[in-house]
Amino acid sequence: MIKVENLSHSFFVGKKNNRQEVSVLKDINLEVGEGEIVTIVGRSGSGKSTLLNLMSGYIKSTKGDIFIADERVTDYKESIWADFRADHLGFIFQSFQLIPSMNAYQNIELPLVMKGVSEKERKQRVVEMLDKVGLNDYQNHYPSELSGGQQQRVSVARALIVQPPIILADEPTGSLDQETEGELLEFIQQLNRVENITFVIITHDEEVARVADRTIRLEDGRIAADWEVAVR
Ligand code: ADP
Ligand code: MG
Repeated sequence: MIKVENLSHSFFVGKKNNRQEVSVLKDINLEVGEGEIVTIVGRSGSGKSTLLNLMSGYIKSTKGDIFIADERVTDYKESIWADFRADHLGFIFQSFQLIPSMNAYQNIELPLVMKGVSEKERKQRVVEMLDKVGLNDYQNHYPSELSGGQQQRVSVARALIVQPPIILADEPTGSLDQETEGELLEFIQQLNRVENITFVIITHDEEVARVADRTIRLEDGRIAADWEVAVR
């Protein structure tokens, strides 16, 4: 589903006449199969978010190739990436990234509006999704009127509403309490089993790594380990 080949990335920092290259990812090779849950672990600064941002097209790699769903996305222009993301990728972030001026319903509906889905179909799908994530009673609430766990459920619903085959998550449980985290992990497993959604989840949380089929460890921008989790 995702293939990364000889991927390297550097950031350039400092002023024009004193530019310094900071090498953040070095020769990364990895594959994520359809229907897998893969977690990426590693210390802060090891390059996890950079890797996810490269897989999402938000930054362009310095070197190497990325394939997603059999398409070589490496050289896609931003406009093509935008369409590709809308069809293939859902995102979940630690900070939820909900739009504060929109209520739960509107936040979940937004990706469908951007895709030009008709109002009638939008309504049907959002209502179904609210039910699925257990937020029926909260659809008129704004993000500031929801708990952390509820906000994360809205963000998961927003990621799922376009039915993407792949979900990329950056520290999705980072701001949740233990109970809410457990609920989210259960939901992720259920989506994986029932709908065969592929997940790539960045985390430094052992609990999250437990739901994974595989865990990849990054150290200083290199893959230090890639192993299958025995018990799931
Ligand atoms: P992680 O998610 O594992 O904590 P990141 O991928 O966010 O790591 O960052 C890896 C390294 O790249 C860090 O040293 C960070 O400071 C650096 N870095 C990240 N983004 C930028 C940027 N836009 N410009 C310069 N350096 C960056
Ligand atoms: Mg990070």
